[in-house]
Amino acid sequence: MSRVLVVEDEQHLGDGLRFNLEAEGYQVEVVETGEEALERLSAEPGFDVVILDVMLPGKNGFEVIAEMRRTGLFIPTLMLTARGHAQDVLRGFEAGADDYLMKPFELAILIARIHGLLRRRAWLETASNGMPSPKKTDVYTFGSAGDKTVDFDALELHVNGRIFRLTLMEAGLLRYLIEHEGKAVSRKAMLQNVWSLQENTDTRPIDNFIVRLRRYMEDDPTKPRHLLTVRGIGYRFIARPR
Ligand code: CA
Repeated sequence: MSRVLVVEDEQHLGDGLRFNLEAEGYQVEVVETGEEALERLSAEPGFDVVILDVMLPGKNGFEVIAEMRRTGLFIPTLMLTARGHAQDVLRGFEAGADDYLMKPFELAILIARIHGLLRRRAWLETASNGMPSPKKTDVYTFGSAGDKTVDFDALELHVNGRIFRLTLMEAGLLRYLIEHEGKAVSRKAMLQNVWSLQENTDTRPIDNFIVRLRRYMEDDPTKPRHLLTVRGIGYRFIARPR
């Protein structure tokens, strides 16, 4: 049974989420502050997904996700942001969120997103347990001098002696691009295969993920050589640029 931690200070919303997610077969715990969430997450390693509201008393959702990532808590996290606050979405991804949903949301969509996060995690875990994966390894080496590596097991990117911790979604997106090395991959394909989203969703968050991945792996992020933009389509990963 998958365990979900809901961080939401509006009691009716927290109760509603608990009731509905339990009906879907999840084990749910609700806390009302970011401080409690951090406490629970570090005390108990068993949570599979975190639903994190942005507007919280005390530490806000951005601070909570940033602190989670900083302290090595890489549990898949979906942030709940207020409608019309596009900047919040970007801030959430910037801080390390894996997905977001704007309030008010439809329950069915939230559940689809949770499934997506769990599938993504299972996919990465299966791949790292020696099951067949296109590259048949957990560590992928790239760069003209073979000096860059991604460890999909540890969720780490090693570039020129620096180590970047990847979120689940960053790792999933990177893996997908690597599997299609040299080919143009559309944003829609990424949305379907990395985020498990079929519906017409805003694809802008993908661009933001790419910006972050470039910041990690490119020698000059403004002149990318690994993660190239394919105008009107999406992106292309080049392992060994000439
Ligand atoms: Ca709130």
